[in-house]
Amino acid sequence: MKILIVEDEPKTGDYLRQGLREAGFVVDLVQDGLDGLHLGIEGDQDLIILDVMLSRMDGWGVLQALTQAGIRTPVIFLTAKDQVEDRVRGLELGAADYLVKPFSFAELLARVRNVLRRGPTATESSVLQVADLEVDLLRRRVSRAGRRIDLTPKEFGLLELLVRRQGEVLPRSLIASLVWDMNFDSDTNVIEVAMRRLRAKVDEGFEVRLIQTVRGMGYVLEPNRAA
Ligand code: CA
Repeated sequence: MKILIVEDEPKTGDYLRQGLREAGFVVDLVQDGLDGLHLGIEGDQDLIILDVMLSRMDGWGVLQALTQAGIRTPVIFLTAKDQVEDRVRGLELGAADYLVKPFSFAELLARVRNVLRRGPTATESSVLQVADLEVDLLRRRVSRAGRRIDLTPKEFGLLELLVRRQGEVLPRSLIASLVWDMNFDSDTNVIEVAMRRLRAKVDEGFEVRLIQTVRGMGYVLEPNRAA
C-alpha cells in the first residue's frame, strides 16, 4: 500500500518515512503543500498523512483542493496545535483522522492501519460490483446474484483486494503484504487455504467463475466462463 507524507519538518518526515517503510508501506515524502497537492491529485495513494502548517499551501487548503478535484484518498492530519477548533475543522473537511504532535510512531501506525481498514471515505460509492457479485465496503457485506455470502474478516479483505484490482494478476507476495501484513514466506500455504475457502463461498454453484489462479503468478478476479 502506498502512503504520501506531506511534512515540512525534515526530521519528522524522515522518521515517518523510515518507520512506515519498515512497516511495509511504499512511501512518498514531500515537504510543502503544493507538492503534496500535485502528488495527491494523481490519486494513486491509499492514504495521505498531511501536516497542517506547511509552506505554499497549508494542510486545510490541500485537503479542500483534493476534495474539489474528486480525490477521495483518506487523510490523516498531523497538527501541532491541540485546539478543539482545529480538530473539528479537520474532521469537517473530511479528514479520516488526526494526530496531535508529538505522537508516538506506534500510535500513528495504529491510526494508519485503522483508516486503511475502513477503506475509502464514505463519499465514494461503498459498493463495488463485478458481474453479479456485490461487495459493500461500509457494511462489510457480500452477495452474489442477490444471495448473501458470509465471509471471515480475512476472506473479506482478500475479496476486497481482488475486486478493487479486478483484472490485475496479484502475486502471492503482494496479497501477503496487503491482506496479512506479513512478508511472503513460500513455506506457508495460508494464502492458498484462504483462497480455496473464499472461492468455495464465492464461486461454487455458479457457472461464471470469478476468482482465477494464474499458475506461477498469483490470482486474478475476472469473470470467466467455466469450461
Ligand atoms: Ca509543519
